[in-house]
Amino acid sequence: FLYNEVQDLKGCIRVYCRVRPFLINISDERSTIDYIGENGSIIIKNPHKQGRDARKIFSFNRVFGMNSTQAEVFADTKSLIRSVIDGYNVCIFAYGQTGSGKTYTMSGANLSAAETWGVSYRSLNYLFDISKSRASIVNYDVSVQMVEIYNEQLVAVTCTQDVLDLMKAGLANRAVGATALNERSSRSHSVLTIHVKGKELASGSILKGCLHLVDLAGSERVEKSEVTGERLKEAQHINRSLSALGDVISALAQKSSHIPYRNSKLTQVLQDSLGGQAKTLMLVHINPEINAYGETISTLKFAERVS
Ligand code: ADP
Ligand code: MG
Repeated sequence: FLYNEVQDLKGCIRVYCRVRPFLINISDERSTIDYIGENGSIIIKNPHKQGRDARKIFSFNRVFGMNSTQAEVFADTKSLIRSVIDGYNVCIFAYGQTGSGKTYTMSGANLSAAETWGVSYRSLNYLFDISKSRASIVNYDVSVQMVEIYNEQLVAVTCTQDVLDLMKAGLANRAVGATALNERSSRSHSVLTIHVKGKELASGSILKGCLHLVDLAGSERVEKSEVTGERLKEAQHINRSLSALGDVISALAQKSSHIPYRNSKLTQVLQDSLGGQAKTLMLVHINPEINAYGETISTLKFAERVS
């Protein structure tokens, strides 16, 4: 109860942090994660320092540790998904450096293993389940759109078949490892939008809501000295759009009178679903490995700024 009240006071922005497990068998001592509290706090230790100075605490609405399951993450996301049926617009973002688990959380690892399904599939199933259970009173119409934003340019697909083809290509690609498409997916934002329109049979009144599921481009900083040409351009577009997103969400969190939507394609596309009555969930992902320490701190600082 208290938790919900706190949520309400803070408005409609929630931030959860998820720690990816180690991908190979290495000891927990090789981790930057010092402690995860029940209350949404996480303590990160600097591998190059000793003592109290080496530790930094961050606080969010929730922190999911390395052993968290897809079902646990969805259990804490479900109420937001449900509100789409009630006519709200909802945005769920996956933020973090490449390899931190964004796509795992949003799409999952393997379509044929239900326990690994991510937020997108679970949300679709949940929305269809609710709409079926209410079929005698409300007639629901569900449509899906997928948009990729690459270098501030939009690529839209408008029918379910396109989406299925894209997902298939993505999964096939994941099975064979890091190919060009996978590389590119970490440098573009992918936005899956689910529109739900409900028509109450008795009154004829109509309620519309939509859900945006956004797998953001990798947030890692790229050294200007290390990249040139296309890669430099990409890196600059990503930095610009992620900071524009951070600016919009933190302006909303502070109830600022000016919300700078116009600074990136991403925030323009999502404008109607950011602010006002809309609800936002930022899922920030961190890689627990020592060599990711710098990116982990900058990811958590971003997350703290928008919460
Ligand atoms: P990103 O999309 O942020 O680049 P991925 O989702 O592709 O990262 O994750 C990188 C690797 O880690 C993948 O092999 C993925 O299956 C694995 N992985 C990420 N998160 C988890 C998790 N919570 N449990 C198990 N494996 C994970
Ligand atoms: Mg990814």
